[in-house]
Amino acid sequence: MTLVFPETRTQDIRTALLGRREELESEYTATVAEMTLAGVVDAGDDVADLGTKAFNREQEFALAVSIRNRMDQVDRALERLDAGHYGTCETCAGEIPVARLAAFPSVTLCVACKSRSESRY
Ligand SMILES: [Zn+2]
Repeated sequence: MTLVFPETRTQDIRTALLGRREELESEYTATVAEMTLAGVVDAGDDVADLGTKAFNREQEFALAVSIRNRMDQVDRALERLDAGHYGTCETCAGEIPVARLAAFPSVTLCVACKSRSESRY
């Protein structure tokens, strides 16, 4: 048995990512359900309300799209995790904390390197 990469950490990351994926999925389902519902209650609406409703739906649509994007990020993160190169900082090769990976699945830098790269601008 060879343990090149600490197996428990991979497990922790996977659990965190899958938990995040579930959260996003239910968030997405709820948003889509709301949009569907909004479409149903449209009939017989006052014309004065329509402008606001259209605006709200646009926001909901944008929200649904951004949730989908985050779901894609989690999926890509899981693929990278399976490939064995996920969760380490691109700059210092240090381990990125699991909580940070779960919150920002597409993150490639640790907090220290990230703030260092930002302070350059
Ligand atoms: Zn780093």
